[in-house]
Amino acid sequence: MDPVLKLAIPNKGRLADDAVALLRRAGISLDGSSDRKLVAHALGGRVQVLFLRAQDIPEFVADGTVHAGITGLDVVREAAVDVQDVLDLGFGYCRLVVAVPREHPARKASDLPDRVRVATSFETLARAHFERLGKEVRIVPVSGACEITPALGVADAIVDLTSSGSTLVMNNLREVETVLESTCHLIARPGIDAEAAEWLDRVAFALESVVAARGKRYLMADVPRAALGEIRQFLPGVAGPTVVEIAGDPDTVAIQVIVDGAEIFDAVHRLRQLGGRGIIVVAIDRMVP
Ligand code: AMP
Repeated sequence: MDPVLKLAIPNKGRLADDAVALLRRAGISLDGSSDRKLVAHALGGRVQVLFLRAQDIPEFVADGTVHAGITGLDVVREAAVDVQDVLDLGFGYCRLVVAVPREHPARKASDLPDRVRVATSFETLARAHFERLGKEVRIVPVSGACEITPALGVADAIVDLTSSGSTLVMNNLREVETVLESTCHLIARPGIDAEAAEWLDRVAFALESVVAARGKRYLMADVPRAALGEIRQFLPGVAGPTVVEIAGDPDTVAIQVIVDGAEIFDAVHRLRQLGGRGIIVVAIDRMVP
C-alpha cells in the first residue's frame, strides 16, 4: 500500500528513542526491528516514517519532502521556516540560554558590551535575541562543543542548549538569560492534501492522548459506601470517580478514578485509612477525555 502520510522523526540523539516510544504508546508500531533503519512503515503501510537528523526535519517538512515531523522546537525556530506547529509533545525539555564565563560581571545579556563575540550553533535565534535587546553582537558560528569556545579565547559568551546545566558548570560558565524554552513538537507543512491531512489528524489525536495520560495513574479500589463522600473530596477524578455496585455487598462499592502520579502515595494511604481494600494502581497509555 502506498503511504498516505510521510512523517520524519529524529534518527539519533536524545529525542530519537523518546519519539519511537511515543509512537508505540500511541499504537503506532514501526515495522522492521533494525536499529540502523532509515525508513519504516506503520499503520498498515499508510504512514511512512523517515529517520532524519533532528536539525534537518523542519526544512524537509517545509519543502514538502515529508508531510510532517517530530523534532525540537529549538531547531524549528532556528530554521525559521513556514511550518504549522501541530502539537507540543512535552518531552525533550531543554532551554536555549545566553551564558558567560563565571567571573564575567554581566548579570543579564543586555549588560554585555556592544560587539561582544557570541559563539552559537543557533545563529538566527541568537541574532534575533540580541537585536531585540538593541545590542550589536559578533556571531561566531560553531556546529558543536560551543561551551569550550570562551576558554579557547574565540568567544566572550555563548548561546547554547542546556538541560541539567552540568555542561555549563563543567566549562566554568554561568547562565544569564533564557532565549527559548524547548520541547519536542509535531510540526506539519501547511496545505498538505486532504488524505494526508486526515491521517495527520489521526496521528496527532493519538499522540495527544498519550501526552494527556503522561504521569497519570488509574486507581481502582473497593471502599465502604459510607466513605464515598469523603473520598470524593480528595479524589475528584476527571468527572468524579466512577462508582460501581458490588453484587451481594450493599455496604461496599468499587471505585475507579484517574489520579496524578504525584498524588498516588497519599491517595492510597487515605483510602486504606477509610477502609479501602483491593487497591490496584495501573499505568495509563492513552487518555481521550
Ligand atoms: P546539560 O544536561 O545541560 O549538561 O547538557 C548536556 C549537553 O547536551 C549540552 O552540550 C547541551 O547543549 C546538550 N543538550 C541538552 N539538551 C538538549 C536537547 N534537548 N537537544 C539537543 N542537545 C541538548
